Amino acid sequence: MTTHLSAPPALELVVLDMAGTTVLDGGVVETAFQRAAERTGVADGMPWDDALAHVRATMGQSKIDVFTHLAGGDRAAAEQATAAFEGAYAEIVAEQGVTEIPGAADAIQGLKDAGLTVVLTTGFAPVTRDALIDGLGWSDLVDLALSPVDAGRGRPAPDLVLTALIRTQTSAVASVAVAGDTVSDVESGRRAGAGFVAGVLTGAHDSSALELAGADVVLPDVTHLRSALAERALLALAPSA
Ligand SMILES: [Mg+2]
Repeated sequence: MTTHLSAPPALELVVLDMAGTTVLDGGVVETAFQRAAERTGVADGMPWDDALAHVRATMGQSKIDVFTHLAGGDRAAAEQATAAFEGAYAEIVAEQGVTEIPGAADAIQGLKDAGLTVVLTTGFAPVTRDALIDGLGWSDLVDLALSPVDAGRGRPAPDLVLTALIRTQTSAVASVAVAGDTVSDVESGRRAGAGFVAGVLTGAHDSSALELAGADVVLPDVTHLRSALAERALLALAPSA
């Protein structure tokens, strides 16, 4: 017998990361970083292996913050490198196209069918974010997409999650679920007070890193999110159509 001391809050909003969570990355971010570094010399002050290790560890954070570190605090150099990164990312998208994490669009639609609002968040600038969304044909699928510039600070700060809550008029932080592939995604969800935070294994970081960051659960991919929410009675599983 199960005793419920209090009913869990009704979930209203799901905040999903883009690259590595809903959008297949396939090394595109790393390649774009490499092109930006080559074109601007932003990481010339450190061994490339160290720069790449920093890029991997900080995956999910605001790109300007990552480049500011690589540039040794030189904000102007970081801004130039960020512009080069966005340009390189757009080139690669044009060369290779954009691919969803398999099943992501259906998963998002399933969350919406369950009555939830779905917001995408990213560390990319709006121009890159919108190129991805247009490439996937998701403009009408998601309710909103946010970049760090729309929110204030990038991840791991809570700003993107809290801005999603405010913009969608969600009732409470406990009514928000967050899912992402990086430690920064999980930390931003925890810092925002989200009621449920999931890590996914389709991107940058592994299960132990995501659990250590405070994930309530680590899922193979975003297609498992809806059932994970239903298992915790955060969501009523709609009868299968
Ligand atoms: Mg990501």
